[in-house]
Amino acid sequence: MPDGTLLDLEENVTFLVDGFLYRSKHPTCSHFFLSHFHSDHTQGLNNKTFLQDEFGSNKIFCSKLTGDLICQLLYINSELVYGLEYGEEAEILCSEAVGRKICLLEANHCPGAAIGFVWTYKRDSDSDRKIGVKPILNQIFLHCGDFRADVEVLKACQKFLREKILREYDLSPKLQEQMR
Ligand SMILES: [Zn+2]
Repeated sequence: MPDGTLLDLEENVTFLVDGFLYRSKHPTCSHFFLSHFHSDHTQGLNNKTFLQDEFGSNKIFCSKLTGDLICQLLYINSELVYGLEYGEEAEILCSEAVGRKICLLEANHCPGAAIGFVWTYKRDSDSDRKIGVKPILNQIFLHCGDFRADVEVLKACQKFLREKILREYDLSPKLQEQMR
């Protein structure tokens, strides 16, 4: 049974993973990630308290297929769903100073299942962009959920970190320290 992992994405923005049942414990959380369409992960999703919440947008990030399944079989309003293709990126409630993004990769578990990278970075100013300064990566999380590790999954994660994250961002001193 997933316990509803809460990711703390700086500036008091939190992001709840597979935790619809625990929604009331995190009243200010407005963004969610559903890793896949197995009932132990979707529990609480169609509770009235979740769907009629007065806080934020209640956007649910998931794979496109999982999004279609929850709309068609659990009757979730499609306006709440942000379905992503594997490898596609989406922004999560960015501020002027901090950017937050999510990208999903194939989890090799069931159709539509995803593992998710979620990261925060310092948003670059116009002048930074003009002189080619990379944004600074502050945090990066990998939520695996249920996944079956095999060479292809591990290669996709490595490729994402090498060709996306390390190419586009500089690491904050704290992240550099953690990687030693
Ligand atoms: Zn599962």
